Amino acid sequence: MDNGPTILIVDDSRLARAAMAANLRASGHERIMEAGSAEQALALLSGEGPGVDLVLLDIVLPDTDGITACARIKQDKRLRGIPVIMVTSQDGLDTLRAAFKAGAMDFITKPIKEVELTARVRSALALKLEMDRRKEREKELQKITRQLAKANQELRLLSSRDGLTGVANRRFYEEQFDRQWAQCARERATFSLLMIDIDRFKSYNDRYGHLAGDDCLQQVAQALQDGLKRPVDLLARYGGEEFAAVLPYTDAEGALVVAEELRAAVQILNLEHKGSPAGVVTVSLGVATCLPTPELDRNQIAAAADQALYEAKEQGRNRVSVGQVNLAA
Ligand code: GH3
Ligand code: MG
Ligand code: MG
Repeated sequence: MDNGPTILIVDDSRLARAAMAANLRASGHERIMEAGSAEQALALLSGEGPGVDLVLLDIVLPDTDGITACARIKQDKRLRGIPVIMVTSQDGLDTLRAAFKAGAMDFITKPIKEVELTARVRSALALKLEMDRRKEREKELQKITRQLAKANQELRLLSSRDGLTGVANRRFYEEQFDRQWAQCARERATFSLLMIDIDRFKSYNDRYGHLAGDDCLQQVAQALQDGLKRPVDLLARYGGEEFAAVLPYTDAEGALVVAEELRAAVQILNLEHKGSPAGVVTVSLGVATCLPTPELDRNQIAAAADQALYEAKEQGRNRVSVGQVNLAA
C-alpha cells in the first residue's frame, strides 16, 4: 500500500524531531524518517532504504553543519532531485544566502509553526512529484525515440529488399547504380554490369507450377548473391526472373570471370528443368564494361548488357556474352 511520500527530518534535538514528526503526522504524512546528524542523514539517503522525497534539514548540527550537508546532497547525482528545506533559528541573511547557494529550495524558522511547516512541505512535495513525473516522461520519450530509430532502420532495410528473394530490389539497384557510377567516374575506374536471366522460365512455371517457380527464383537469387565476393558488388532483382549485378572497379576481364562463375553457380544447383536444353535450371548473362565519363549516359551500359544477354539467349542459353558499349550513341 502506498502511504505517500517519505520525509526525512534531520535535527540533533530529539525533542525538535518529535515535534516536527507529530506535526507532519497530524497533517497526514505517515512515512517519516529521522536522523540525529548530517552524517547519519547522508548515510540514510545514499543507502538502500526507501527513496526519500523531502529533507527537513537543521542548519546547526554537531559535526557536519546543515549547509554543508545540503551542498553534498546536491552534488550527488542520485540525490540532487530531492528537495531540501532548511530549518533554522538563525535567520540571518548571510546564512540564508549560503543555504540557497548550497541548493536548498526553502527554509522554515524555529520555533516551528504547524501551518507554516505543512504549507512549505506541501508545496515542496508537489514540486518533487511534478519533477519525478517529468523525468519519467522524459525516460519514456527516450525509449520511444530509440524504438523509432530502430524501426526506421529496419524499414530502410526492408524497403531496399525484394520481398520474394531477399536480394536488393530495383529501387535500391537504381540508387546504388547511380552512386557507384558517379564514384567510378570520379576515380576514372572501370565499371561493369551483368544482366542475368533465367532460361526458359515460363516453361518451368508451366511444368512445375508457380510456387515451385518462386522457390526456384529464391534459390537462384541466393546462388547469385553468394557468387559475388566483393562488398561493393551488388546483386539486385531487376524484374520477374531477371537479375542485375553492379560491379564497380571491375574491368572487362574481371567481369567475364564473375559472369562465368555465376553461370556455373546456378547450373551447379542442379534444379531439374526438363523444358530447358541443359535439363536443369540455368541462366544466361550479358556483360558490359566501360569507363564512366560525364558525357556517357548510364543507359548505354545497360543497353549494351541487355543486347549481350539477348545474344547469349540467341546462341543457345546457359552462356555468357560480352557486349560493346556504344560510345557514339
Ligand atoms: P528465356 O529463356 O528466353 O528467358 O525464356 P523465359 O521463359 O525465361 O522468358 P519469358 O520472359 O518469356 O518468361 C519469363 C517468365 O518468368 C514468365 C513469368 O511467369 C515468370 N516469372 C516472372 N516473375 C516471376 C515470379 O516472381 N515468380 C514466378 N514463379 N515466375 C515468375
Ligand atoms: Mg528468362
Ligand atoms: Mg526475362
